[in-house]
Amino acid sequence: MEVSFSREVRALRLGAGDVFHGEGILAITKALLQSGVSYVGGYQGAPVSHLLDVMVQAEPYLRELGVHVQACANEASAAAMLGASIHYPIRGAVTWKSIVGTNVAADALSNLSSPGVTGGVLIVVGEDYGEGASVIQERTHAYALKSSMLMLDPRPELENMVRMVEAGYALSEASNMPALMELRIRACHVRGSFVCKDNVAPVVSTERPLAEPAAFDYARLAHPPVTFGHEKLKVEQRIPAAQRHIAAHRLNEVCDGEHREVGLIVQGGLHNSLIRALQQLGLADEFGNSALPILTLNVTYPLVPSEIEAFASAKRALLLIEEGQPAYIELDLRGHLHRLGLSAALHGKDLLPPAGELGVEALVGGLIGFVQRHLPQHPLDAAQAWLDDHAQRRRAVAAQLGAALPSRPPTFCVGCPERPVFAALKLAQQQVGPVHVAADIGCHAFATFEPFSSGHSILGYGMSLASSAGVSPLMQRRVLSVMGDGGFWHNGLLTGVQSALFNGDDSVLLIMKNGYTSATGTQDIISTPSDEIKASAPDKQQSLVDRNTTIESTLKGLGVRWLRTVHTYRVAEMRATLEEAFTTPFAGLKVIIAEGECQLERQRRIKPWIAGLLKAGRRVVRVKYGVDEDVCNGDHACIRLSGCPTLSLKDNPDPLKLDPVATVLDGCVGCGLCGENAHAATLCPSFYRAEVVQNPGWGERLVDALRRPVMRWLQAA
Ligand code: SF4
Ligand code: SF4
Repeated sequence: MEVSFSREVRALRLGAGDVFHGEGILAITKALLQSGVSYVGGYQGAPVSHLLDVMVQAEPYLRELGVHVQACANEASAAAMLGASIHYPIRGAVTWKSIVGTNVAADALSNLSSPGVTGGVLIVVGEDYGEGASVIQERTHAYALKSSMLMLDPRPELENMVRMVEAGYALSEASNMPALMELRIRACHVRGSFVCKDNVAPVVSTERPLAEPAAFDYARLAHPPVTFGHEKLKVEQRIPAAQRHIAAHRLNEVCDGEHREVGLIVQGGLHNSLIRALQQLGLADEFGNSALPILTLNVTYPLVPSEIEAFASAKRALLLIEEGQPAYIELDLRGHLHRLGLSAALHGKDLLPPAGELGVEALVGGLIGFVQRHLPQHPLDAAQAWLDDHAQRRRAVAAQLGAALPSRPPTFCVGCPERPVFAALKLAQQQVGPVHVAADIGCHAFATFEPFSSGHSILGYGMSLASSAGVSPLMQRRVLSVMGDGGFWHNGLLTGVQSALFNGDDSVLLIMKNGYTSATGTQDIISTPSDEIKASAPDKQQSLVDRNTTIESTLKGLGVRWLRTVHTYRVAEMRATLEEAFTTPFAGLKVIIAEGECQLERQRRIKPWIAGLLKAGRRVVRVKYGVDEDVCNGDHACIRLSGCPTLSLKDNPDPLKLDPVATVLDGCVGCGLCGENAHAATLCPSFYRAEVVQNPGWGERLVDALRRPVMRWLQAA
């Protein structure tokens, strides 16, 4: 990937006494090195992708430390890394986006948790939950419960987050349980500072490898009959050991407040929002001091009965602040209170929204309900007015617009190589009729938005072809499955292609070969063009991916007999290939590789190269497309076929015409789609292609000098 993390990599080298400034996720990354981690793996995905991206770019430094870093093929392979090291005093860390990544890793996590770990294991999951999330809204907490893993949810403050990484390893080792650390989007991006310690060279490392493998021990295999014993160990030894360790090392935090008759229990990750909400009620100050006692759970599983007893025994009422559903912690806490014989009234989802993100507004609403019931003497007018103000502002905006704010769906980048494919698909369907489209995770999922509105289902990363098996044999027209090269390697090759070939599926698979896992941050994959290929043709639009045929050779080796590779920007060719795939008498799996380098990566790559050429006074040609406003007929078919953000509208210069004309804004990167669409769909001939020449040669200057007066004369005439 072309993004540089050099500043972050430098921060990883900070030593004892240095002050780290930055984001939460980078603090966690530094804390892993301070904890003596031996290996780090993972699969990228927001909001934790920086952890792996930075580690990968820090590889030379990590080699000095002896830390092994691996970008894994998917989350299952990352989780599997943890499994083999269970015999050794090796600390490992892996990371991925959750809940989707944890779903993919679930099998390996079960098999890891059953025998238990020796060296500490930390699984840093980006809990992508709430309004900015891009995945299914479910909770990773469920996995901690079902597999008996520790669940850490650190209060988002850098010193505490770093402490919880170090403490998480110690807790994992004391209990033999792997630890999940959930980091919400806000925790990953919270900014702050902490005083560093020196990085710790791991006990076992690439510099200090183990001399001998562990002795054979059947009891450490996740295999019957020893798995029955493992289940008992979890309940009888590991969880109690974890509870003792959590209490002894005060991993959870208690804040005393003057209203001792009530208390708040909060997931660590929500602590900051809770303080902000309490401020609206006049129950906390700007330094985070609360008038209500708070038990902040940096560890949300397992709960510690002795801590609950100490906090709740003298209280009349408790409010548990727990985000999402099901209310796992509330159920757990209720059980503990009951077993401890404590009579405090427990509120939670009865006062707070049962689903969705617990932002400050939602928390203020819940706190008002709690305080009304249990601290009736406390004034709530200001908090209620604050809430009403927000509601009023929303109503006013809605009234002004006449409706709710219009949604602004995301879309492909300007010049994205995937946009032309969906234009071609639109045109192909005019010929063959509408087809069922099994969509997938990746940038191509933007095609589910207008103007393409293409895709009937999304089942998970790389799962489109596998999912289509349920409808493919039942439809008259062939089904189309779309996946990216990232999805292909993550999952699609085995779950989709292998199964389709084995079962003789008569459908069409379209693989977007843009060279990177673009949607997660343009990380490299096995079919990413090598640095040598990139260096050899920095100016080329399409040749980079073209020259790396790993996907094609893999498909051929597996037995795919109908295989076409088409450059994405050749809309007419792509349209014809799609039509052929939908209508050919060949009855097996038909695969079309749509090839064109991710434009985002291409721009990152060529911009410094072009800047260098300009600085050296070399000739540079930039292609731009435009619309002749006198020719544009104002039907906007080009926009409906492209959706490029730089293809826009402006007032019609003809006073007799009301419809606005199309126009190309400055951001056009000259990908050529406008011209291709105009030809493939026989649109009006209003598009023109212009070449902007910088640092022209003397011949070009001469031609330009001759042309200008002629053009002026023609215009005047
Ligand atoms: S990141 Fe790349 S593949 Fe994704 S939308 Fe942008 S240009 Fe297209
Ligand atoms: S040529 Fe057309 S589709 Fe391509 S970047 Fe320019 S306006 Fe967008």
